[in-house]
Amino acid sequence: MTAIKRIKDQPGGVWAESRGNLVASEFSQSGRAIYIQPYLEEVMKRISADLEEQGFPVGQNDLFRIASGFRTQEEQDELWQRALDKYGDPDIADDFVARVSAHQTGAVIDINLGFPIKSEHIGQIRATDAYTAWEDLAYNKYKMAPYDVEPWHWECGDACKENIEEILQGESESSQEFDWNKRGEKTPVENTRRRATKQRGTAGSAVLLGAAVLLSGAGALLWMHKRGMLKRKRR
Ligand SMILES: [Zn+2]
Repeated sequence: MTAIKRIKDQPGGVWAESRGNLVASEFSQSGRAIYIQPYLEEVMKRISADLEEQGFPVGQNDLFRIASGFRTQEEQDELWQRALDKYGDPDIADDFVARVSAHQTGAVIDINLGFPIKSEHIGQIRATDAYTAWEDLAYNKYKMAPYDVEPWHWECGDACKENIEEILQGESESSQEFDWNKRGEKTPVENTRRRATKQRGTAGSAVLLGAAVLLSGAGALLWMHKRGMLKRKRR
């Protein structure tokens, strides 16, 4: 595969606009409201429709549903603190959990591909038809960037955002540059989220679930770490 840049490799990329104008995704896994960028929601809408057309039971048992999207710095801090509590060494915690994650842009998702989002299932995930179909659409058609050590983690960086904007412009036959902030049906959620985060504090269920998802794979990652198999920090 030719390289589509991950968000961390895009200087200035989408970081600056990371907080405003997120939407609660209709592709969140059941029972959860997961927030993402509106352009990523548009990509998800199209990928889901394409997958349904291919005959996949989209949404059944949360297949192709988003398990993690936007995270606040506080939520990421909590994940890192849990890694520190577990390993007792900041350097090892750094190997497992990023202090600043691309998830904080809202342009990144962890997608459910039919197996739990845990390191021990990486081989099984990659072997499924669901993964092959997802990868073809997300990467080839919608220009999302994969993360080679986590098959569930996909980023809608510059190439992906520009690609979906071109598609939308083509459909609207407008010469105007696409402006996500002018879409009337989307409501900025930042203030609401900030209040909600304050109320539930660091023991909030979203934080706990996110931590469980991330840390459940830590044992396998420690094994890989010891053998020098991890070239990069977890994102
Ligand atoms: Zn992720």
